[in-house]
Amino acid sequence: MTEQRQPSYDPLDTALAGGADGPSALGPLVDVALDALRLGAHRRGGPLPAGTPAEVARAVAAATGGALLPDRGTGARTALASLATELAAGTADPADPHCAGHLHCPPLAVAVAAEVAAAALNPSLDSWDQGPSATELEPLVIATLAGLVGYPTDGSGGVITTGGTESNLMGLLLARDAAVLATTGSTAATVGLGAVGSRLRYFCSEVAHFSVRRNAALLGLGEEAVVPVPVDRAYRMNPAALADRLAATVRAGGVPAAVVATAGTTDFGSVDPLPEIAEITARHRTWLHVDAAYGGGALFSDRLAGLLHGLSGADSVALDLHKLGWQPVAAGVFLTADAAALAPLSRRVAYLNPADDEAAGYPSLLGHSLRTTRRVDAFKLAVTFRALGRHGLGALVDACHDLARHAAARIAASPYLELAAEPVLTTVVFRYRAGARGDRVNAALRRRLLADGSAVVGRTEVGDAVWLKLTLLNPHATSADVDALLDLVIRAGAAEQQAAAEQQTGTRRPGAAAPNAVAPRARTSDTPEEASR
Ligand SMILES: *Cc1c(COP(=O)(O)O)cnc(C)c1O
Repeated sequence: MTEQRQPSYDPLDTALAGGADGPSALGPLVDVALDALRLGAHRRGGPLPAGTPAEVARAVAAATGGALLPDRGTGARTALASLATELAAGTADPADPHCAGHLHCPPLAVAVAAEVAAAALNPSLDSWDQGPSATELEPLVIATLAGLVGYPTDGSGGVITTGGTESNLMGLLLARDAAVLATTGSTAATVGLGAVGSRLRYFCSEVAHFSVRRNAALLGLGEEAVVPVPVDRAYRMNPAALADRLAATVRAGGVPAAVVATAGTTDFGSVDPLPEIAEITARHRTWLHVDAAYGGGALFSDRLAGLLHGLSGADSVALDLHKLGWQPVAAGVFLTADAAALAPLSRRVAYLNPADDEAAGYPSLLGHSLRTTRRVDAFKLAVTFRALGRHGLGALVDACHDLARHAAARIAASPYLELAAEPVLTTVVFRYRAGARGDRVNAALRRRLLADGSAVVGRTEVGDAVWLKLTLLNPHATSADVDALLDLVIRAGAAEQQAAAEQQTGTRRPGAAAPNAVAPRARTSDTPEEASR
């Protein structure tokens, strides 16, 4: 019988990560994972896998052995080795200097090691008795970040979130409920929005993050409740226009629920004029939420912190340490100047935070979060803060800022490239000059770099035109790396331009490769390690 030929394997022997024996079981498996990371990176040989999405899909399917949930498992080592190798071989690695498409940072090794410890212990923050030390640690991390923002440590509050999207949702939610309370005297968390719901409005600049609009939809106001405010030539909210729109909204019977200012827009890194905006929102007694998901990292840098002057005037702030903070996802932060503002989220739950436990001195973070079961993402932040200090993190921010300035200077000096704006933080928006074919050529050259596995470059639109973007978050990248990346863009642009010209004159079939296409990076899958398996 086939059953007897299988090695004897009792699923109940599957090791646990915790307990006194946990580390001994975990160590060898972590070694398997690390070996797989080495092998996968070698096989990839660059910032992302060369090839089409269909090729990646086939490789991923193959690594599952055709059955992701077989009747009988393969055992831990085999499953981990094959899938981790494939994940690494097929990943876009932000630690590669030519992976510069998104606010997708290369995590620090120390933060990832901290993550392993946190995952092994698996504390949960919804009740004290699922993580006593974790429950004490998160408020320290929040208080530290509140201090960095300029909030009084006493009375301010907040919570670690999954990212800027969730932090913005929290800001808009608390602002909405505060506006309902102020306008109608009723508690939205209990009775809903009522008639005032259709009058509530949010205000943000026209280049604010898309999550503001989607969050307005999730919160029952609808995307049309978001009033876009024009920006100046440097993509910063125009405060006079904000004042006009607030006044017009009130005249028309609307209720301003929040102004969302952005400190570090995703494309240009532009920072809205926070002191002026805070003055206007104070006059209108309207909640000011600052989306500093990207720009918040500037607070670590003596050189750049001044950009965020006025941030402490916000009622709430979103930060993202998985951007300029070099944390593995997720490391979002929501802060509020007044911890009492979190009240709409607070609940008494018999099995989590009974009143007599709380009276006896057992704290609960349940009411700070939208979530129930919750990872201690604060832990990797605490370890990173202790390890690097503010100056250490600031030096990493400055290194990326230097790279962006170098890239901008190179682009401005190149006859082939055009710079959209001087960088503020660590992004650089630019395009390959291709005249009337600019949109097609820039879009296609980016896909060409993806297909040959040589670079991940961002794409955005300015007006209706297609532009490219470098998002420089790798503090170990050098200016020579940036030069080489721009050279790749120029070569790919030239190849696409020629392909477009030939297609137009009918010299070549559409879709055929351009003669001087960038040579695909050699794939190095037949490695000695792999051959020996
Ligand atoms: C990245 C970003 C967000 C969204 O944050 P996530 O962590 O991706 O949820 C929101 N606002 C701005 C300005 C961002 O750059």
